Amino acid sequence: MTYRRVERPAHGQDVVRRAVPSFGTIIPMDTNTSLRALPKTDEVLVRAELASALERMPRAMVLDAVRGAIEAARARILAGEELNYTVEDAARDAAGRAVLAERHSLRRVINATGIIVHTNLGRSVLSEAAVAAVAEVATHYSTLEYDVESGERGSRHVHCEELLCRLTGAEAAMAVNNNAAAVMIGLAALARGHEAIVSRGQLVEIGGSFRIPDIMRESGATMVEVGTTNKTHLRDYENALTDKTGLILKVHSSNYRVVGFTSEVETRDLVDLGAPHAVPVMEDQGSGVLVDLQRYGLPYEPTVARSIEQGAAVVTCSGDKLLGGPQAGILVGRHDIIQRLKKHPMARALRLDKMTLAALEATLRAYLDEERAVAQIPTLRMLTMPLAQSSEIAEKLAQRVREAVGDGAEVTVAEDVARAGGGSLPITDIPTAVVAVAPRTVSVVALENALRTGAEPAIIGRVKEERLLLDPRTLVNAEEHDIVVRRLGEIL
Ligand SMILES: *Cc1c(COP(=O)(O)O)cnc(C)c1O
Repeated sequence: MTYRRVERPAHGQDVVRRAVPSFGTIIPMDTNTSLRALPKTDEVLVRAELASALERMPRAMVLDAVRGAIEAARARILAGEELNYTVEDAARDAAGRAVLAERHSLRRVINATGIIVHTNLGRSVLSEAAVAAVAEVATHYSTLEYDVESGERGSRHVHCEELLCRLTGAEAAMAVNNNAAAVMIGLAALARGHEAIVSRGQLVEIGGSFRIPDIMRESGATMVEVGTTNKTHLRDYENALTDKTGLILKVHSSNYRVVGFTSEVETRDLVDLGAPHAVPVMEDQGSGVLVDLQRYGLPYEPTVARSIEQGAAVVTCSGDKLLGGPQAGILVGRHDIIQRLKKHPMARALRLDKMTLAALEATLRAYLDEERAVAQIPTLRMLTMPLAQSSEIAEKLAQRVREAVGDGAEVTVAEDVARAGGGSLPITDIPTAVVAVAPRTVSVVALENALRTGAEPAIIGRVKEERLLLDPRTLVNAEEHDIVVRRLGEIL
């Protein structure tokens, strides 16, 4: 066999030379033939397979896709593969690459994990009313900072303030970018240059980089830790209270629980302790619970209204956890304090945009009627769905999947647990019914992978004991059921 050597000079074009055996990369002659036979970009670009891509996308992107396809073929040939890569092959591969290049980075997925406020998958899904409100203000001019009655400039705070006050019993309210921002601005406005007392049992870290001690430092407050990890008593706070104290902070342990021999001080007692010294209590409630979850068979979770009723000067919470709205941070509390927060220089940097405000207002409106809130806000609906209903839905879905996959898998309905997610109700098992798929033609890992990466939208399930579990509780509508059935049918 004759050998030639390929060298790759700086400009990236392959130069084929007569080889000196034992030097450089030695490749067989027929490899060279294959390389030379690779299609040229121009002949691929004119193929019918790429016509629609060229219509939809910038030519430069399609050209990149063609080059990418040819490069990939070249690499396979150089790796020793016997490949007869035709113009048709290149056009088909390039069309596939063009579709991938066009795909948005932030895009829809189907959450079949049963984890409701799934932080990595975008936390809460908005209600239809919230989506409609977003679309309305995004595509039109709006009253964002305009008072139609007076014809003068208005405030963006008004849109949610009255609703928040009604739902929580607070005197005043404002909303910022997220709860981390709410805590930050609260600390900066109330405790900068002062001491803020917090229990050692409440020095939480909430995913990413939100840690109470760090936020405290950034806000310019001096943290004074009291008590122990499991127990903090009123006298611990009392002993730490000095004329330097600016704030007592209470943080709800939303994403973990201290169980066993524990005690925490009630908000009411902290308020009574601080009042004679004019030291306010700020409570970070976390999940944004506005309804009594016990009514739906879930464990008791303090509501924002309860903290206000107990006298907290400010309560903060997230908009997109159990509240079920857009990403936002909500601050409710005493009129004088909320006014200070609104005027704080940080307020401008942390303010909400009109689309989020629209979604938040629509979500809060649903809460004016609790029944409506539970029916219309996806997070609440998923959270409160009784097991019987979940079983009924899973049975129907399982039957359709059985028909679609035939002998390709054993499909059953199993009882499992769903989770609130997002660091909310961390130890609560929500009994749920899942569709369990035990594939016969492929491995369960391959099935999980195919559902996730094989087509759009990605379907995210859970693998447990050689079965793929799909929880219909977190499927958002009938269309998602159809997609799951179809994709399983295609794969299996
Ligand atoms: C989630 C959470 C935060 C952070 O809220 P984001 O809206 O994610 O910024 C802060 N404190 C508590 C107690 C939380 O549960």
